[in-house]
Amino acid sequence: MADIIQLLPDHVANQIAAGEVVQRPASVVKELLENAIDAKSDQIKLVIQDAGKTLIQVIDNGIGMSPTDARMSFERHATSKIKTAADLFKLKTKGFRGEALASIAAVAQVELKTSNTENQFGTHLKIEGNEIIFQEPTTTSKGTNIAVRNLFYNIPARRKFLKSDAVETRHIINEFHRVALAHPQISFSFFHNGKEIYNLLTGNLRKRIVAILGKKANDQLVPIAEKTDLIEISGFVSKIEFAKRKKDEQFFFVNNRFIKSPYLNHAVQSAYENLIANGLHPSYFLFLSVNSERIDINIHPTKTEIKFDDEKTIYAILKASVKHSLGQYQVAPILDFERNANLDTPYYFKNKVSSTPKIEVDPNFNPFKTQASQNIREQKKNIGNWESLYSGISSGIENEMEHKSELFQNELTEATTFQIHKKFVISSIKSGVVIIHQNLAHQRILYEEFLEKITVEGAVSQQLLFPLEISFNKEEIKLIKEIKEDLENCGFQIDQIFDDKIVIKGIPSGINEGKTTIIIEQLLADIQNDLPENSFSQLDSMAKSLAKSTAVKTGQYLNAKEQEELVNKLFLCKQPESSPYGKKTFITINLSEIDNKF
Ligand code: ADP
Ligand code: MG
Repeated sequence: MADIIQLLPDHVANQIAAGEVVQRPASVVKELLENAIDAKSDQIKLVIQDAGKTLIQVIDNGIGMSPTDARMSFERHATSKIKTAADLFKLKTKGFRGEALASIAAVAQVELKTSNTENQFGTHLKIEGNEIIFQEPTTTSKGTNIAVRNLFYNIPARRKFLKSDAVETRHIINEFHRVALAHPQISFSFFHNGKEIYNLLTGNLRKRIVAILGKKANDQLVPIAEKTDLIEISGFVSKIEFAKRKKDEQFFFVNNRFIKSPYLNHAVQSAYENLIANGLHPSYFLFLSVNSERIDINIHPTKTEIKFDDEKTIYAILKASVKHSLGQYQVAPILDFERNANLDTPYYFKNKVSSTPKIEVDPNFNPFKTQASQNIREQKKNIGNWESLYSGISSGIENEMEHKSELFQNELTEATTFQIHKKFVISSIKSGVVIIHQNLAHQRILYEEFLEKITVEGAVSQQLLFPLEISFNKEEIKLIKEIKEDLENCGFQIDQIFDDKIVIKGIPSGINEGKTTIIIEQLLADIQNDLPENSFSQLDSMAKSLAKSTAVKTGQYLNAKEQEELVNKLFLCKQPESSPYGKKTFITINLSEIDNKF
């Protein structure tokens, strides 16, 4: 039998490749915009007609091309961006495969005008279905102007399958958003059927987000800034109250390239767990920067998927940073004051050797007595822990922290507070008023304090004058034996355990001696109900339970100093917005809301 294998002619090969690269007008928009960015432009204009079906044009002020390069750029695998396979691992550009222009020219009528600074003349070139119609010198300003007309003009079947103008335009706008968000330092304009739909000036990321999504976005954003050896995370997430049904404002950029990642999305979503209702989704604009040798973005031709070497660690860091920022910023903007994301420490549980409680008798103990500034000092002390969790944190934080904390305190202490119905503490803030639920807020404060004592510092005990005997049933005694060490970590000093009773000689400082029995009973009940699976959740249940039983109750009078202390301490918490059991601790009412009532 005769030989039957032949090489495909280039134009056929290009058309096949085009099937991968060019799915719809939006794909062309993406490739052309990315080429303009790779060419170091700082002004880019996108013009489309009829949802890109008639015309897609991108005009940039980048480096342009020489006459030879202009012709070469339409060859398959022609690229200026990589030279060797090794370059693939340190990509700094958007493109690298060198097939976009060849693919586009295979399925559309393309006209190119381009000029660089070295050549006297620019180039004017027309190519249709991979066939050069003409190439001639021309005078044109530095940069590249490329027009793609009548996409799929030579493949009627594909042209017929394009969706309605509305749908195709939506796809184009999405691509435009992704590119524009990743490059706030570049100005973009966008015209559709002669009408300007975007004119984005250069600025920072926050400005760019607001320019794209509208002014309302400004109040919704919580900044994130996290730096570790492995990954740097920056950008914004939305506050919990702005979670949406639609997932249309979720953006990940890895090394400034938009990517889709259900895995990373899950990390962010899980940081909002218990904070937003089921079925709601946060918005986010997150920039991850990773050493490009540790990722593989080449697994999909349109390059929106990615593989990380250290997926699990990245997941954990991402989730922790989002949680951390939410905790801090949830409150700060209410006080019209921005806190530095690096200030606070996350809870730190790992590698904690259980320590014998320190004994300190303080009969005059008053839970509200400690100054907020002491709390700040404590926070500072914990920076070491933060560092060991995420190594690579910058120095100089201490100073900044002191400064910010002072600011933060001034914000609060200048405000006057008052108590109503022995239940709420009201404080005026710049944007209106904040109404704090005294019991729930105090639970939050104590919970964080207990947790920190138990896990980081070692609890402080107060010695009882007379040892206290408390009776328990068998089940309870069994449980006490199991959790004895954790109880001691909390500050309980258990002298003896019998079959039906225990003898206690010390209790956590801050606990009213007369209530010891009831508090321990409650603690055991809570732990039994919570059924904690591991030792951390056991400690967590204890901290919750102790916080609940020792917090000031509704009906308790608080003097001015105590009220102030409550406010100060609450807003120094890591998650001030909710009680340990997930209830709101405070609400705010804006001046405008109050005004509207009149
Ligand atoms: P890739 O971007 O993967 O290199 P393309 O087919 O998109 O492949 O582009 C081929 C080459 O054409 C690029 O490597 C670049 O050298 C050149 N090029 C394309 N668009 C522009 C532009 N707007 N400005 C300057 N050079 C460009
Ligand atoms: Mg390209």
